[in-house]
Amino acid sequence: MKYSIRFSISLLAAWLMIANIGLFAQNVNKQNFPVKKSANRVELALPQVNGYALLRCDFHTHTVFSDGLVWPTFRVYEAWKGGLDVLAITDHIEYRPYKKYSGDDLNASYEIALPVADELGIMLVRGTEITRKQGILGHFNGLFIKDANPINTPDPELSIKTAWEQGAYITYNHPAWALDTCLLTDFQNSMIDKGYVKGIEVFNNDEYYPRALSWCIDKGLGVYSASDVHACLADDFGIHGSGSARSEFRPMTFVFVKEKSLDAVKDAMFKGLTLAYFDGNVAGAEKLLASLFLASIKVEKLSQTAKQISCRFSNISGIPYNISIDNKKYTLDGKSAILINLGVGLKSVDCMVENMHCYEFKHPVVQLSL
Ligand SMILES: [Zn+2]
Ligand SMILES: [Zn+2]
Repeated sequence: MKYSIRFSISLLAAWLMIANIGLFAQNVNKQNFPVKKSANRVELALPQVNGYALLRCDFHTHTVFSDGLVWPTFRVYEAWKGGLDVLAITDHIEYRPYKKYSGDDLNASYEIALPVADELGIMLVRGTEITRKQGILGHFNGLFIKDANPINTPDPELSIKTAWEQGAYITYNHPAWALDTCLLTDFQNSMIDKGYVKGIEVFNNDEYYPRALSWCIDKGLGVYSASDVHACLADDFGIHGSGSARSEFRPMTFVFVKEKSLDAVKDAMFKGLTLAYFDGNVAGAEKLLASLFLASIKVEKLSQTAKQISCRFSNISGIPYNISIDNKKYTLDGKSAILINLGVGLKSVDCMVENMHCYEFKHPVVQLSL
């Protein structure tokens, strides 16, 4: 009995010693840095424009379910970190090098990404890229599709029509990618004339197509800017100081909405309420550009002499504006202000916004009241 008690006490002491070593190891020999983990979301600041919110959207990205290099949930985290409100994963129907491993269901990338998108408050658009011979038929994104699988047909027009019959918004992608110039072939024109295609990418990854902007204006089509990212976005665009630092924010399409919902986004797109943002530039319809500029800039008279009025021009948006007043050039950085001296007696000034594009090689001139 005595022996047994002594043995039990010894066992207890040994256990306490092991437990203490365990505690000691946890406290000293394993530490986490940084102590508090936080993902750093940075948004491009945009003003309310005439009662509309501008949503930051990328309608063209890829994952390993086509020829991208990342998993669908990675695209969503990346979108969240890069300040997006709306994301579409648009894996190629016809080009899927990892098909042997990723399977045959063309909706898989959307379905994998959706729970994470919901958790992070990113509005995820179900989409796909119809990928036919560039320069003849071209590439088209079906956005807001219901099911990507029936869109997989050999006939290119039937593919586009099937997406359209699902209520899709269809864009014609990168009109000059892998070509010397922008192309609008007979097939592409017929898809626009038949009412299937409603928008064109005027910017894709690092390519700007001024001619495509003119087509959009002349034909009443929506303008789009997309990353078309395949690898890691930070390597492509240097988001927030990482990577090659080519641009602070990814290419984005701004969509003007009255409420934050996918229905409102789709409705605005069919109404042509989009602007294309790329590398500090904004392209689209003159009226929408002017309304964004006017909502971004506040002008305040500070003092007046016999010769001049001193005015403070404040930019409340994150978009840096390059402006020209009376052939004098000024840069209005995002979220900052500059002083500009103007002639006495002026009630308004005409301001050419040189990083806004309303037609090929044409900038809007916006009247600012003083
Ligand atoms: Zn493409
Ligand atoms: Zn693509």
